[in-house]
Order: sequence, then structure tokens, then C-alpha cells
Amino acid sequence: MPQYKYLIIGGGLAAATAIAGIREVDHTGTIGLIGAEPHPPYDRPPLSKGLWKDKALTSIWRPLKKNALTLHLGRTAQTLDAGQKNVVDDQGAVYTYDKLLLATGCTPRRLPFGDEHIIYFRTLDDYTTLRELALSGERFAVIGSGFIGSEIAAALAMNGKKVALIFPDKSLGSKIYPPELVEFLDRLYREKGIEMFAASKAINCDMRNGKPVVKILYGPGAIEKEISVDGVVAGIGVEANVGLAQMAGLKVDNGIRVDISLRTSNPDIFAAGDVASFFNPALDKWLRVEHEDNASTMGGLAGAGMAGRTITYTHQPFFYSDLFDVGYEAVGEVDSRLEIFADWKTPLPQGVIYYLKSGRVRGVLLWNIFGQVDAARALIAGKGPFTASNLKGRITG
Ligand code: NAP
Repeated sequence: MPQYKYLIIGGGLAAATAIAGIREVDHTGTIGLIGAEPHPPYDRPPLSKGLWKDKALTSIWRPLKKNALTLHLGRTAQTLDAGQKNVVDDQGAVYTYDKLLLATGCTPRRLPFGDEHIIYFRTLDDYTTLRELALSGERFAVIGSGFIGSEIAAALAMNGKKVALIFPDKSLGSKIYPPELVEFLDRLYREKGIEMFAASKAINCDMRNGKPVVKILYGPGAIEKEISVDGVVAGIGVEANVGLAQMAGLKVDNGIRVDISLRTSNPDIFAAGDVASFFNPALDKWLRVEHEDNASTMGGLAGAGMAGRTITYTHQPFFYSDLFDVGYEAVGEVDSRLEIFADWKTPLPQGVIYYLKSGRVRGVLLWNIFGQVDAARALIAGKGPFTASNLKGRITG
């Protein structure tokens, strides 16, 4: 029976940085990691961005300090007994721990049809499957226009593929960006040859003559249309993997609740990354964040905390996206329902978009401006009051 001082469930970024965090404090304590994927931890963001440009596949692997570390890959933790401090995996192996980290991440939501014909793009294996299809395939359907949909549609188009982007929103990014940016993106995607099926819903996907055919209801008139393609990708959001936490009786509320020291409601169990719900002082609310910086920073601190360091997680995570040759970094609440002030450096495509509520900055989107995330964080933490006139020119890039 494997016995570990530190047991980590999950094999993603939060898990990888947790190992480093533990090793900053404890150089020898045994660490076990149970990961569902057959691969050691890797960087997920390049799967929908850099790997479709010039980034090498070999660059994605996370460096791991290997001493006293055992990776149990291709295994899924099935039960967690917080009283006995043990975990049982899908092959019946029992693991015990002194301190446990739940870094179980999220699982893609699925459509109620077309199961085996749709790639719910999240893992390295999903990337490999799509890459192989794209070697000979010419036309792809992408369902959903969130992070996965917008990035994968751009990635495929950049690689010479015809793309049909099918999404419920009235236009790409309208829930996030101000109207001028929504128009800019719509133009950009169309110029790059992407067929935009806005206000549309995929209702079926089956195989005909060896090719997937996606049936959609298109536009406000809900016109039925069939699109025959060589591959179908969907990114329609994810669900936090909270099952083990619930089984162990931990507090769960839109993710596994952690305190400022990243402990769950059980002091020997920590949680980090996409699955963890934490209180963010600058925004004065509970958050669960599904982005790289949060996973990386939180995982590292959780690891150090498990090994005995006093830690506090008050970090304001940033996120970023690359769409063709434009991109952004952003912090906080980026939501077009808030009051918006766009401070364009040049009319487009470079500028800072501020999202405001009651005189406070709730979010900042740095469009084609890089290296200004800390300035954005400071504004979100600032008391204000902020207005368009006192924000103008604040962040210039
Ligand atoms: P997402 O960014 O949450 O976007 C999901 C999109 O799917 C939303 O636009 C949603 O529209 C749409 N949708 C929901 N149900 C749908 C349906 N039945 N048919 C068509 N569209 C539907 O999630 P994601 O793109 O799947 O990404 C998965 C996770 O990976 C997210 O946690 C994301 O943050 C993360 N990720 C992050 C990055 C990055 O940080 N750059 C890149 C890739 C992935 P409504 O909003 O109208 O419901």
C-alpha cells in the first residue's frame, strides 16, 4: 500500500507547481501523484495556442523534481476517506497520506448527441487527435465560442483549414468585449475564412459516408442546416471535479471551498487550481478560476502550505488569449454588462478596456498590451472612485 507524506490527486498544472512548492520547504518527504491522464504534468495553454504556431511539442512538459516522487498515471482516484486518510484508485490500489492536495480540475461539458464523433478539447490526447485529423482533413466544425472555441477556430484557420464556428452568442465575444472590439473580431475571423454561425445551436452530429455531419439551427430564424466536415471540436464549458470532496464531506460551493491558506474544511486536505473556490479580497467575492496563472500560483502555494509554510492566497490571477496575431492579458471581471471605458492607444487594435462598477475598477483587459498586469491589479485593488477621465492614459503599455 503506497504511503505518502504528501499525496496529490490530479496531474495538471496545479499539481506540478505543488510538487515544486513542497520541495521548497521539504526536500525529502515522499510525494505521490495520482493522475488520470497517461502523461506527466504538462502546460495546457499551448494545446490551443502555441502548438499550432511554432512552439515545439517537447516544450510543454513541466520540469519536476524527481526525488521521492512517484507518479501513478492513468489512474483515477475513486474514493477518499478523510477519517482514515486514504484514497482508493480505479485499480483498487489504496494510498495513505499525511497531507492531501485535491487538484482534480474540471471535466468538459458534453452535448447530448454525437458522443464519439466530437472532440471535447482539453487534453494532450485531444490535441494529438485533432492534429492527426488536420493532417488530411480540410473542413472542421467548432462548437462554442468561449476560450476553446475562439482559440481552436483561429488555430485551425491559421493552419489552412476551413472552419465553421457555431455558437449561441449573437456575436463572437459580445459577453466580454465592447462593441468596437466585437466588430473587429467578427471582421478578423471572417477575413481569415471562418464561417460564423452566430445565434446558432448544434442539435445533432452523426456520421455519413465516413464523415461527421453537424446539424444546426442557424441564426435568429433557427434555420436548419447540415454541415459536413472532417472533424468536430466542442468547447462548451467545464464542470469542476468535486466528487471526491463531496464524498469526504468537505465544503463544496461552486468548487471546493478553501480558506486563505488553501485548506479545505478538513485541515489536512488542501485544494488548488480550477477546482478550488477561494475568497478574493480585491474583488470582495468568492471565485473559482479556470486559468493558468491561478492554477500555477495556487498550486505552488498549496504545496508550500502542505509542507508547513504559513501561506496566504490573496493573488489576483490574470488570464490571456491569443487569436491569430492579436491577443490580450486580463485581470478581474471582464464582463460587457459592466460599465465599460475603452482607452484605445491607437483606435484598434491596441488599448486598455476598463470594466467599472460603482466607481471601482472590477476588471481590466489589456488588448495587445503586455506586461501591465500588475498595474491592472493595483487599479482593481484601489478604492477609487474611478471614472473614464481619471483612468485615461493610466496604463499605456
Ligand atoms: P468557456 O470559455 O466557458 O466557453 C464555453 C462557451 O460555450 C460559452 O461561450 C458558452 O456560451 C458556450 N456554450 C455553452 N453551451 C453551449 C452549447 N450547447 N452549444 C454551443 N455553445 C455552448 O469554456 P471552454 O471554451 O469550453 O473552455 C474550457 C475551459 O478551459 C474553461 O475553463 C476555460 O477557461 C479554459 N481555457 C482557458 C483558456 C485561456 O485561459 N486562454 C484557453 C482555453 C481553455 P454561453 O456563454 O452563451 O453559455
